[in-house]
Amino acid sequence: MGGEKDEAQQQERREPNDSIRVICRFRPLNKAEEASRSKFIVGFPNNRGHEDQTVSIGGGDSNKPNSKGKVYLFDRVIKPNASQEKVYDIVAKDIVKDVLHGYNGTIFAYGQTSSGKTHTMEGKIGDPTWQGIIPRIVFDIFNHIYNMEESLEFHIKVSYFEIYMDKIRDLLDVSKVNLSVHEDKNRVPFVKGATERFVSSPEEVFEVIELGKNNRHIAVTNMNEHSSRSHSVFLIQLKQENIETQKKLLGKLYLVDLAGSEKVSKTGAEGTVLDEAKNINKSLSALGNVIAGLADGKSHVPYRDSKLTRILQESLGGNARTTIVICCSPASYNEAETKSTLDFGKRAKTIKNCVMVNEELTAEEWKRRWEKEKEKSTKLKAQLEKLEMELQRWRQGEKVDADEQVTVDMERSMVKAENMAASVSNELRDAWEKEREQLYVQLDEKDEEINQQSQLAEKLKEQMLEQEELIAATRRDYEILQSEMSRIQGENDAAKDEVKEVLQALEELALNYDQKSQEVENKCKENETLCEELNQKQSDVTSMQSDLQQMRDSSMLHKKRMNEMLVSLLSDLGEMGNVIGGSAGDINVKNCNDPNKIEEEFTMARLYVSKMKSEVRNLVQRCSTLEGFQGDCNRKIDDYERELSECRLLITQHEARMKTLQESMREVELRKRQLEEQVDSLTEEVARLKVAEGIVPSEGAVKEAIESQLETHRDLHQKQIAQLRQEINNKQLLIDDLKDQNQKLTLEHEQLRAEHEKLRSEESEKSTRLHELIMLNDRREQAHQDLKGLEETVVKELQTLHSLRKLFVQDLQARVKRSAAGEDDEILGGSVAQKQKISFLENNLDQLTKVHKQLVRDNADLRCELPKLEKRLRATMERVKALETALKEAKEGAMRDRKRYQYEVDRIKEAVRQKNLARRGHGAHIAKPIRTGPTSLLSRPGAMGMMGAAPASHSAIPTPEQLKIL
Ligand code: ADP
Ligand code: MG
Repeated sequence: MGGEKDEAQQQERREPNDSIRVICRFRPLNKAEEASRSKFIVGFPNNRGHEDQTVSIGGGDSNKPNSKGKVYLFDRVIKPNASQEKVYDIVAKDIVKDVLHGYNGTIFAYGQTSSGKTHTMEGKIGDPTWQGIIPRIVFDIFNHIYNMEESLEFHIKVSYFEIYMDKIRDLLDVSKVNLSVHEDKNRVPFVKGATERFVSSPEEVFEVIELGKNNRHIAVTNMNEHSSRSHSVFLIQLKQENIETQKKLLGKLYLVDLAGSEKVSKTGAEGTVLDEAKNINKSLSALGNVIAGLADGKSHVPYRDSKLTRILQESLGGNARTTIVICCSPASYNEAETKSTLDFGKRAKTIKNCVMVNEELTAEEWKRRWEKEKEKSTKLKAQLEKLEMELQRWRQGEKVDADEQVTVDMERSMVKAENMAASVSNELRDAWEKEREQLYVQLDEKDEEINQQSQLAEKLKEQMLEQEELIAATRRDYEILQSEMSRIQGENDAAKDEVKEVLQALEELALNYDQKSQEVENKCKENETLCEELNQKQSDVTSMQSDLQQMRDSSMLHKKRMNEMLVSLLSDLGEMGNVIGGSAGDINVKNCNDPNKIEEEFTMARLYVSKMKSEVRNLVQRCSTLEGFQGDCNRKIDDYERELSECRLLITQHEARMKTLQESMREVELRKRQLEEQVDSLTEEVARLKVAEGIVPSEGAVKEAIESQLETHRDLHQKQIAQLRQEINNKQLLIDDLKDQNQKLTLEHEQLRAEHEKLRSEESEKSTRLHELIMLNDRREQAHQDLKGLEETVVKELQTLHSLRKLFVQDLQARVKRSAAGEDDEILGGSVAQKQKISFLENNLDQLTKVHKQLVRDNADLRCELPKLEKRLRATMERVKALETALKEAKEGAMRDRKRYQYEVDRIKEAVRQKNLARRGHGAHIAKPIRTGPTSLLSRPGAMGMMGAAPASHSAIPTPEQLKIL
């Protein structure tokens, strides 16, 4: 921080005659250098008073100030790890301020390829940490402007061009390929005709840079190589006007990324590349020469040796604050280049510039300056006189003492100029000066002419290229069409040949066909005669056939009958099946009507029969088991019956007992009644006796006797009664018991009876079933026997049928033989010639039939082939037609294309002409004034909009918005 402050102060204290600042930047070792184990050979010794200003190279221990190696001193040495921001602060910050105050400024980067020049000047545009000097300058300029007085109006314009092979190419207009350098009225060189873009925001500047870079990329194939061989120059011109005092200031800032400073040999260039390299080196060596000339204080500085040096004329020894950034690699591999770069910097450091504010001066200022100059000149004249006198003395052979010699404390260059002036007469000098001036003017004019010519040539070249391309395209199209046409022609020819062949084949076929048809006709005639004969034979055959038919009918009848029988049989069988088992027997009787299926059905029936057999067997088995079961049941029933009878006996016994008991009860009751009667009689007696007693007064004894008697009687009676009651009770108990038993028995009896009933019903059921089964079995057996009989009958019938057939065949054969015999008889009757004829005819017939067959086959084949051939013919015809139409279309297309190309060419020509006219028409640039002050800072987007809306207004009429804020 302290160092930077110092710098700023230094800047403030700068003299008008200012040295070029040289800042040395080292980049870190790059990957390639690290990979090749290159050593870091640079040291940054801390020389007292020169902190951050020295660098040593090639020393053993680079950190010791006393170690071997060359030490260089610069205005500032930037170490590899320094940030881009720091570099900007060191290199450019103050220059921006100077430019805003009307000074010229130049920053250029010098160094070998990949030493970090572009990294320093541009960096990564748009990246806040890695962006280089140019974008930072742009932001800084606008920030300063936004913070400046309101009364200032700025016009900023930028140009962007590159110098390659000593030709200036405008990067904002690709058609300007060879711009010339002229001098303005103050004899300051400038690039004439370079596109100048007025800009009003950083974004616009970046757009311009982007455009320039794109144009640069488009123009070349290998950008890396190209950028290392060309110098790119970005120029920012700041015009400033104080609308109150009308003071105008102009600051130009050149930002130059030079070509790689390495030697040609290192790049290994050859041929045209070598040429290029020489040219590039020429401009760089011209730069070196200029710097050397300036450093050595030579009178003639060869600015005019190259366009680069001419553009930088003001920056090198002229009116500009110039900073050179020498970029170096710290690797041992690049030691030589680094050293030469450092030497270049060392030399450049000695150059002194004369910096002035570019002000459009008022009359008073001019007067003041004139007075000053006049004073200076009188002073100089006096000095001159003194010096002349001294010279005189010297020339006269006098020796002038040292203390008598005139001392000149002015600049050496001035002295030299004076000396020159002394040696050469004033007129001569003036004349030379004038001539030189004229020559320079002429040179510039010629340059301009060359530029124009080259631009024209470029344009023409472009046009030519376009035309050539067009021609090539048309030629290509034409060739394609030609080839297409030839192809089509070839196809057409081939198709024609094919057609010819096909036609020939067809003709042959037609001939063949005619022959064959004639043959066929002949044969047909023969055939007809044969056919007649055949007809006769056929009538014979038909009669025989009718016989056959009759026989067939009879056989059919037989068959029908048989069928019917079979059908009935089968239906019987079916029924039987149904009887035997619903599931098993479902022969489809209806189908039996079909005689063809009879046999099938028959086998089915047999199957059913066998099934039935097995079923019957099962049934019989079941019957026997059931019989056994029945026996068991019967036995059981007997048992039960026996038991039942026993029970009955018991019941009768019990009943008898009950009867006796009832009788005894009745007896007892009877006795009871007797006894009661006795009691009643006795009571009557008692009553009588009582009455008698009443009659007989002394009757105590009687009374007693009676009483005792009564007593005894009563006792007896009571005893008897108790006895009887006891008896009755017992009897009652017995009766109850018996009743119970009886009930039980009756219940048992009933149960048994129910059981008996049940068993009986069961038995009856079983017996009925058995009966049924037996019946069924009987029926089945019968059916079986029927079936067997049927089978036998069928077999018999079949046999008869067979024999009938045999008979029929025999009959037929016999008949045939007979007929043949009849014929034979006839033949025998006829002559041998006839026989021969017949055999001949037969042979003939055979042959004819063969031939006929052959012909028919041939005919069929031909017929088959004919449509194929026809199809082929049609296809070829179609192909020919299609090809012809394609040919026609292609021709038409070609014609159309040709016309279109012609039209296009005309149009392009017209456009080019128009463009040329237009270009000559307007050349004026529209300035975009930028107003300073906080208002514009606050409402930047609005302010910019305003600028855009009134781009041509140089007058400073404030807008309503501004007025409001003001
Ligand atoms: P030149 O323009 O001199 O040919 P460049 O600026 O293109 O070289 O740099 C070459 C490479 O080295 C680039 O990739 C760049 O990013 C890198 N480089 C240069 N200087 C630095 C630096 N100071 N820090 C980091 N990388 C750097
Ligand atoms: Mg570069």
